Amino acid sequence: METNVQVHDKEFELLLDEDAIAKRIRLMAIQLNVDYENRNPLFIAVLNGSFLFMADLMKEINLPCETEFIKVSSYHGTSSSGSVKDMMGMPANIKGRDIIIVEDIIDSGLTMQYILAEIYKLEPSSVAVCSLLFKPEALKVELPELTYVGFEIPNEFVVGYGLDYDGLGRNLNHIYRAISIEK
Ligand code: 5GP
Ligand code: MG
Repeated sequence: METNVQVHDKEFELLLDEDAIAKRIRLMAIQLNVDYENRNPLFIAVLNGSFLFMADLMKEINLPCETEFIKVSSYHGTSSSGSVKDMMGMPANIKGRDIIIVEDIIDSGLTMQYILAEIYKLEPSSVAVCSLLFKPEALKVELPELTYVGFEIPNEFVVGYGLDYDGLGRNLNHIYRAISIEK
């Protein structure tokens, strides 16, 4: 079965298919529904990469909850720049709330560290991070808030299911990893 895809100059191979992703998200939602029973958390998704994950996760959440979206520009090409430049759309209603930050992927963790610092300034009652993907080998900071992880993946560049490679690939249904060609 040919499952490779080409995005820009790179070839990618299948890492996680859509059924595996959907199953995992249902389990993550069940866990959240239990953990936040009798509370009304505020889910804050980090655009753009998390848009499909957030949508599919929210369909499985049966808590009275609110949803907000923030945008952080920090990433270019295939390696994390490590410097977060700009944040947009931080909601004002964070004080005293149970916050769940929804991310597509935690790589170095620097983006999330920055987002967390901004959120703590607004005095939430609690903060948890829910990321579909996590590259443990790439993590450069401590992230005790990272409570919900869909899949731990190797330290490789991935695309699909919301994640892009220089703008392309977000609409792929599966998640693919870059094939490193060494000749
Ligand atoms: P970090 O600050 O944790 O190094 O990177 C976080 C952001 O970098 C993620 O939200 C995501 O936008 C981007 N990123 C990190 N690794 C990957 C990857 O393998 N593929 C894609 N498409 N984006 C990534
Ligand atoms: Mg992201």
